[in-house]
Amino acid sequence: MKIVFDGRFCDSGYAQDNAAMPGRMEAAVSGLEAWTHLAPVAATHEQLSLVHDPVYVQQIAQDPPRFSMACLAAGGAILAAQQSYGGEPTFACVRPPGHHASRSEAWGHCTFNNIAVALFVLRAEKRIENAFVIDIDAHTGDGTRKLLASWPQTEVFNPFAASAKEYLELVEAHLVALPPTDIIAVSAGFDAYLHDVGHKLATADFERLGTLIRRASERLCRGRRFAVLEGGYYLKDLGVNIRAFCKGFAG
Ligand SMILES: [Zn+2]
Repeated sequence: MKIVFDGRFCDSGYAQDNAAMPGRMEAAVSGLEAWTHLAPVAATHEQLSLVHDPVYVQQIAQDPPRFSMACLAAGGAILAAQQSYGGEPTFACVRPPGHHASRSEAWGHCTFNNIAVALFVLRAEKRIENAFVIDIDAHTGDGTRKLLASWPQTEVFNPFAASAKEYLELVEAHLVALPPTDIIAVSAGFDAYLHDVGHKLATADFERLGTLIRRASERLCRGRRFAVLEGGYYLKDLGVNIRAFCKGFAG
């Protein structure tokens, strides 16, 4: 298990939104010292253009602080995907998040779709032909859905349920029935937490999710799995929740 992180993600000046809030990345990474950290390199225009309209990429480039941070986040997801393809499960602790970004627009604190960029890079490198994405953020990964909609045998799964118990049952049932895939990617949001906007999952539930996803990847795709941070705004417990997820995910 590896962690992709860079101290530059702690710079909160790139935007004025909840994902950019000061102290958020310090909190996110606070429980992850036990694992080896890798520093990402920024995604290139060419890599971003596998997913995004080059005009949109140019438009974001007009805002250098936001552009550099978003390129570094997408580069972090790419590194995590490449590590996981090579047999090392990896969590990319990055911002801005990406799952609300589609080809030419983004909302909800997102800029580039980090997960989609990473998967399209692996496909361009001819390493994968399909993928399964599970989005455990409290919000639907509408951007990821749009971007992967025309990719054959590739699914974006957003579980929704009334209670934590039903949520975990739904995820387990879905994963058990999943057909073989080349890689499993997780849009790992932590805002479904009890004290965050989703008001549902406890810390132990995040560990259980990590475990269920790890087992599915071991069964279906030789353990190839990576996760990329999306939302999560209750800073007091963000670190313990991410650590709990990673504990289950790492195995
Ligand atoms: Zn969210």
